[in-house]
Amino acid sequence: MKQMKYLLDEEEIPKAWYNIQADLPTPLDPPLNPATKEPIRPEDLARIFPMELIKQEVSQERWIPIPEEVRDVYRIWRPTPLYRALRLEKALKTPARIYYKWEGVSPPGSHKPNTAVAQAYYNMKEGVQRLATETGAGQWGSALAFGTMLFGLKCTVYMVRVSYDQKPYRRIMMETWGAECVPSPSNRTEYGRRILKEDPNNPGSLGIAISEAIEDAATHDDTKYALGSVLNHVMLHQTVIGLEAKRQLEIAGDYPDVIFGCVGGGSNFSGLVFPFLADKLSGRKPELRAVSCEPKACPTLTKGPYMYDFGDSAAMTPLLKMYTLGHCFVPPPIHAGGLRYHGDAPLLCKLTHEGYMEAVAYHQTEVFQAAKLFAETEGFVVAPETSHAIKAVIDEALRCRETGEEKVILFNNSGHGHFDLAAYDAFLRGKLIDYEYPEKLVQEAIAKVPKV
Ligand SMILES: *Cc1c(COP(=O)(O)O)cnc(C)c1O
Repeated sequence: MKQMKYLLDEEEIPKAWYNIQADLPTPLDPPLNPATKEPIRPEDLARIFPMELIKQEVSQERWIPIPEEVRDVYRIWRPTPLYRALRLEKALKTPARIYYKWEGVSPPGSHKPNTAVAQAYYNMKEGVQRLATETGAGQWGSALAFGTMLFGLKCTVYMVRVSYDQKPYRRIMMETWGAECVPSPSNRTEYGRRILKEDPNNPGSLGIAISEAIEDAATHDDTKYALGSVLNHVMLHQTVIGLEAKRQLEIAGDYPDVIFGCVGGGSNFSGLVFPFLADKLSGRKPELRAVSCEPKACPTLTKGPYMYDFGDSAAMTPLLKMYTLGHCFVPPPIHAGGLRYHGDAPLLCKLTHEGYMEAVAYHQTEVFQAAKLFAETEGFVVAPETSHAIKAVIDEALRCRETGEEKVILFNNSGHGHFDLAAYDAFLRGKLIDYEYPEKLVQEAIAKVPKV
């Protein structure tokens, strides 16, 4: 009988994170100070991030040791299982071998605590009392609430107003773990008060919530800011996923031909793919393909230009070199809330720009169809974000059926969809609307990005 899942022992939780910066053919373009257009200095970031994370952000060391206290927390759910999707393969009648790493087993239900726990730890070590952050639908906020609770920090989560009103379950989770959840825009910050004055019923956006959380951190000495994706240190922490998967595939006697992952800010996919991309960068696996999967409604990698832009809509963050839809981008209301960010991680963008990675985009209806087939075969009801990767995997497996190729396909199953059942309901009732973000709006938004 074929083996269905590959499990590792607790001692096999990686002891170091893999830093792909050490292996890039050319260095990453640095973040810029928007006023001077000069590279940001580490001191500029010290008000909102702890020193250790700032060091990791720019580190060129290939391996960064994972503190024992962080590994000890990882033991709650890591190593995560690697599954062979035997039932999906059978349903598709494909000769391809499909594997997936299952990150939905963490207490918050996604990959996000891999970095939330590490960030909470380093802040605690440096005497920080409280972390401030933003959250859309609540995935990141709940992961940080979990991480801060374990290391005795307070946590304030600015949650986008519409989600706060419409999606109470993740808020309740955050509060259960002891975090304070504030609907954004709020009257806690200068920026929030300004927005509420213009429109007391402003529904909020991720960009506004980021700006509020940064302002909170910058104006309180005991408080720092935490970001759940995009930054180099977040990609770094997520590499535990790929490092474990590599070991598990070794046990299975396989190596991927193609790797898929959904991309919102890029962290779950980078975390899986970077340890494998090391083999492509070094020339050992020149044929390896890595494909980012995103919504057609927020087509950052497939339609955005590669240029410097702000990370937030209030234009307060440093300028980051990335594919972007413009920091003023207003995302259409699709159900994959975690994939609606206007930019993507500079590391993933650079590797895409230089041809080491590719990207595809899908409509939400086809993505939910794929998620339904996955639930019917593999059993797991996955997050709408993750479903983008599953759509790509199914398409690839069907191509293999045509050609007879026994390709090895790997993807990151980044989280469960137990709090997204209203979206499944809309799909099942035929109420989902597909939306393609028009090229013209991309051009208009890009015109508002400062020239570097
Ligand atoms: C947040 C989230 C994503 C998107 O964020 P990335 O940084 O691109 O990984 C994807 N899947 C799940 C389950 C998420 O919670």
